[in-house]
Amino acid sequence: MIYLDHAATTPVDPAVREAMLPYEREGFGNPNSLHRAGRVARRAVEQARARVADLIGAQPNEIVFTGGGTEADNLALFGGLGTGAHLIVSQIEHHAVLHAARALERRGVAVSYVSVDRHGRVNPDEVAAALREDTALVSIMAANNEVGTLQPIRELGNWLAGHPARFHTDAVQAVGHVPVDVNDWDVDLLTLSAHKFHGPKGVGALYARTGVELAPLLHGGGQEAGLRSGTENVAGIVGCGEAARLACGRFPADRERITRLRDRLIRGALDSIDGVALTGHPSLRLPGSASFTFAGAPGESLLLKLDMSGICVSTGSACASGRLDPSHVLLAMGLSKAEANGSLRFTLGRTTTAGEIDAVLGVLPDAVAHVRRLGF
Ligand code: PLP
Repeated sequence: MIYLDHAATTPVDPAVREAMLPYEREGFGNPNSLHRAGRVARRAVEQARARVADLIGAQPNEIVFTGGGTEADNLALFGGLGTGAHLIVSQIEHHAVLHAARALERRGVAVSYVSVDRHGRVNPDEVAAALREDTALVSIMAANNEVGTLQPIRELGNWLAGHPARFHTDAVQAVGHVPVDVNDWDVDLLTLSAHKFHGPKGVGALYARTGVELAPLLHGGGQEAGLRSGTENVAGIVGCGEAARLACGRFPADRERITRLRDRLIRGALDSIDGVALTGHPSLRLPGSASFTFAGAPGESLLLKLDMSGICVSTGSACASGRLDPSHVLLAMGLSKAEANGSLRFTLGRTTTAGEIDAVLGVLPDAVAHVRRLGF
């Protein structure tokens, strides 16, 4: 199998698995218990918190562990908006943000959806124009999951620092892959998810800058400083911490190598296939992200054809629930429905090799030709 769907999820690093195992066995204590078993688990949770904080330049007490990126995004939007009247998001946010924004809209919150250019970049001037006196929260993702485009978060953050609105970024695709520093970016809230950087699924975190008040989504025992009640997923949190520690050490080298492989794939595809176009920004993109449209070749058919050759990729259009609507991201970038239909996303990762990229380039032209001949 050649796995090129790292934006969907990454394999758990063996070192992460090893770090987690003791907390599924003898270290099973509840971190809220005062006895020794509880204290062992508490120490592990706090060590993981420090490691996650380290990865993004935060203080440990600014990290709230959640049940994944979706929950952290919802906590940022619902909890960060509070009783605020106006919210700004971009049109290309992940559904964890977009659908939360729509839910807030149904409760009477005014929401502005800022557009993007043809490369999927938000224009900071448009955010500035949408800003109102009563804007309570601005949420712009750091890197797009479908086309890999990086957003001008530092520019937005520095600029928004002079406005009372809070600034949240969904950095699920960025953390562990590009340098992320909450102070350099001047963000108040930031979402990350462990399974996107070789940690386990179902664990994420929300960074909340000291002094930024949040209303919890979940009420109960008051864990995570009252912001996320529920007994902590200790093994998962330990895995998240270990994945963060590994990413800190490895990612400058990983990033360079993966970028080279991505460029090899992009060049190879553009050179060997007619009617192919790169989607997203040509250079301001995630190291591992190569996304294309293939004219006249429906993405789902191409995905299945490549799957028969053992190659795992994804389309820009199929969302988690398996619906086949054209991608809201590609449509927001100005692509037609027909163009968006022919989209395919290859996302490379730590284990991707040059041999795998060459193997993909070996079968891709024939796969595209085959699907075009079939016409569906
Ligand atoms: N935000 C972005 C940009 C994502 O890519 C994803 C996952 O695909 C999420 C949020 C949701 O994260 P999780 O799968 O941890 O709930």
